[in-house]
Parts: sequence; C-alpha cells; structure tokens
Amino acid sequence: MMSDFTKVAIANRGEVAVRIIRACQELGLQTVLLHSKADVGSRAYRLSDHCICIGDSPVGESYLSIERNIDGILASGAEAVHPGFGFLSENADFARVLEQKGITFIGPSADVIEKMGDKIAAKKIIEKAGLPTVPGYNGDDQSIDHLIKEAEKIGYPVIAKAAAGGGGRGMKVIENKSQAREMIEAAKREGQAAFGSDKIFLEKYLNRAKHIEVQIFGDLAGQVVHLFERECSIQRRHQKIIEEALSPSLDHKLRNQLTHAAVTLAKEVGYVGAGTVEFLVQDGQFYFLEMNTRLQVEHPVTELVLGVDLVKAQVLTMMNRFAVWDQDILVPRGHAIECRIYAEDPYTAGIPSTGILGHQYWPQGPGRRFEVAFDEGDEVTPYYDSMIAKAIVWDETRSRAIMKMQRVLSEIVLFGVKTNIPLLQQMLAHPEFIDGSFNTQFVNSYFAEGAIQRDRENWKEQLAQIAYQKVSEAPHSNSSSTLSPWSQDWRNV
Ligand code: ADP
Repeated sequence: MMSDFTKVAIANRGEVAVRIIRACQELGLQTVLLHSKADVGSRAYRLSDHCICIGDSPVGESYLSIERNIDGILASGAEAVHPGFGFLSENADFARVLEQKGITFIGPSADVIEKMGDKIAAKKIIEKAGLPTVPGYNGDDQSIDHLIKEAEKIGYPVIAKAAAGGGGRGMKVIENKSQAREMIEAAKREGQAAFGSDKIFLEKYLNRAKHIEVQIFGDLAGQVVHLFERECSIQRRHQKIIEEALSPSLDHKLRNQLTHAAVTLAKEVGYVGAGTVEFLVQDGQFYFLEMNTRLQVEHPVTELVLGVDLVKAQVLTMMNRFAVWDQDILVPRGHAIECRIYAEDPYTAGIPSTGILGHQYWPQGPGRRFEVAFDEGDEVTPYYDSMIAKAIVWDETRSRAIMKMQRVLSEIVLFGVKTNIPLLQQMLAHPEFIDGSFNTQFVNSYFAEGAIQRDRENWKEQLAQIAYQKVSEAPHSNSSSTLSPWSQDWRNV
C-alpha cells in the first residue's frame, strides 16, 4: 500500500535505527521506535519521538517476532514501517501481514522479497535473464548421497549454502571429498536451525574472488537506476568489515557489465526502493551471488560518493513523492570507506566485549561521518550483534581516504568496551589493502586470529615498508588507487 503517511515505526535497533529516525524527522515525520527491554539505554530510544517496548531482550521475544512487532505498530498508530537491515527486513511474511493490515512496508513487495529471499529461486531468475551465476547444483534431490555426487561433479572446493540463508550463516566450504558428508550435513542443520529449512544448494567455491555489489533503486513508476558499486571483500566469516565506494578494481567494461546486470534483474522483478545485487568477481568474470531487498549496512559509502540520501529516498518512494534520480546525474566523486566498529577483543578473532560505555569521542571534521548506536552510560549487552558504530570517511582520492580513516581511527576514544579498532588499523595498513588487490580471503589469510600482537609502533612501520615496496613493484591498473599513503610526495596522494 502506498500513501502519504505522518508516523513511521522503526522495527530495528542500534545505529541503523538512529539513521532512520533522523531521516524521518528531517522529513517532518513522527517516529515510533519498537524496541526491546535492553535497548532503553540506547541513542535511538532517546532520539525517537515515541517508543514502544515490544518485548524482552532476546531477539526471538522482540526484534525477530512478527507478532510483537505488528502489535507494537498497531498500538502506535504508525502508517508505515521501516525495517532497517537484519531482523525482519527480508521477511516476506512480515511484509505480507503489513500489506494485509494496510500499513506501508518501506521496502519492496512481499512477493519480491520472497522471490529474492530464496537464493535458488533468485539464481533461476538470473539464469533466465541470461546473466552469469556461479556454476553449481540447485536441484530438488536433497539426499546427502546425491549432494555428495553433485559436489564431486562440480569439483572441490565447493560451498554448500542454505537456500534460505543470510548474514553469512548456513554456509560451509568443502575443501575435499573427505569433508563432503560432514559439511553438507552441517549446512543442512544450520539452515534448519537458523532459517527453518534444510534445503541447500552447492556452488563452485571461488577462492580468489572479490565481493562487489551494485546499489540499485526503483520507483513506483517502474524506473530503475544503479548507484554504482561497493567493494566489500574485507570479510570475516562471510561478514563484511570494511567497505568502499567505488571498487578500486573494476575497469570501465566490467563496471558497465555489473551495473547493467543489476538493473536488468531489478527491472525483471519490478523492484521498488533500495536494493543491492551482489556479485563475485574473479579473473575478470562476474557471477551473480544474491540480491538483498533492503538497505545495506554499508549504504553510507554510496551516499558519500554520489551525494544522495538513500533512506529519505526509500521513505519518499513509498509516499509516492519520489522519482528516481536521472542516471546521468549520478556521477561518483572521490572515494569513501566505511569501517564497522565492533565491541570485541581485537586480538581474539571476534570475541564480543560487553559493558557500560564510558566517555566517547568521535573526531568530527570534513568528510568524516559517524553512525553511532550508544551514548556514554549505555550498556553494550550480549543479546545483539556487536557492531556498535560505523566510521565513514570521504576524500578526493582513495589514498587520501585511507589516510583519513587511519587518522580517524587513531583519534576515536571509546571507554568501557574493547573494540576492533586496532584490527581495522592493521587491515588498512596492509599492502594488499593499499594496492586494492585483496580478495575475500584477505582476513583469513592475514588476520585469522585477529589483530597481530606486535610492538605498537613496529607493526605500522613494517606494514608501511612492505606496502611501499609492493605498490612500487606492481602498479595497479587504476592509478589513483595505487598511490601509497606512505608516499613522500603529498601532492600525489
Ligand atoms: P549471505 O546471504 O549469508 O550474506 P552470500 O551468498 O551473500 O551469503 O555470500 C556471502 C559471502 O560468502 C560472499 O561475499 C563470499 O565472500 C562468500 N561466498 C559465497 N559464495 C561463494 C562462492 N561460490 N565462492 C566463494 N565465496 C563465496
């Protein structure tokens, strides 16, 4: 249902709830935060015009419960709901109940969510449109013996994925024949436990691939544009940590192919609002991975290079007050990088750190943006994802953006919990990050155990040394991305 509305419920928490509240308030709309008991101590709670507690702190009793959210929405009198990302944002049943109740879901229709949420169905649509997918097995015969045979046909390494999976879960890499049975069973179990279905599919595992995704946007008149790509290959356990716009490693031709494929898919399914089409890119070839029918965590990097507000565009689209930007005016400028800041021990590959937050300092300045979930005195609890903030920077070139992000990370002050900032600093200083040649194996190859415990000053010097050598040895095709931030000549940076 599309109509004008004045009150928007936010079915989410943390920094994204803050982001949505601000966008709505700036548009003159009232907000209602649907929150759990634990999140009374959060920035979103304090900023929202109204708040309704929908349940206890465990996600099953609040953020993931369709019933609790619907009750909250009906009680609040909100005419629209923004689901953010994660939780119910890609839940077709939630969108469908809202449709039935005449409440606007700020996102695509339940049918589109459903089509794209089933990764096998989405792959079939892509194949029908003549676009490349990762070779593999999508069949109905789900017996373990048959799946093992198919894995062998594909050739190891193979990745087993839950058809209904998401958020990096329900995926198992099978390195060789001896692991096949165990990994296939594990993927099925995980799929059943996390997504209520043990249906899996198999894909060739591309072990030198980059994860590159295209932001698309559709309006109610059926127009679709793309907002270029984001480079999201810096991942731990299939979850992104650092993202950039644009990608330092696409040439003109490949960029055109990717954006064209994304727009084709979005048009094919009648996509409305913000969506992301994810690809793997290896050896100059691209393969469709999946489509996310929602706002992405990393949307700010696109906003910064294009000068757009994706959240406002989402809201206005559903009010039928927005026609998509002209593709020609979407011209990227400069470079943006986002770092996800997690409350975790940086030296232990991600053990969460909880506690009451003390003093915070976010070093504001030109081209620096902070999306923050908590204020001083709030508690980071073990109930939710440990991402507590995002730091995003923009500058005229990639190397300057890297230098700015290093500076920003070294200036942030956050007492009360440990954070992954030392890990982020080391990643940004790594030669493969600096020259843009990294792929999705980056974290596993260099930081599998977390940040490297070294003499504080020493690691920086060592990495800078290797970085400089590597960059001068093997210049990258995109020259603006190859300049070392450690270069002596600041005019080139
Ligand atoms: P999710 O929906 O859980 O995010 P995706 O299908 O988007 O899962 O994959 C997440 C990440 O897993 C990718 O960015 C990539 O790093 C890795 N991955 C998925 N499929 C493959 C594959 N066939 N080969 C190599 N890596 C893969």
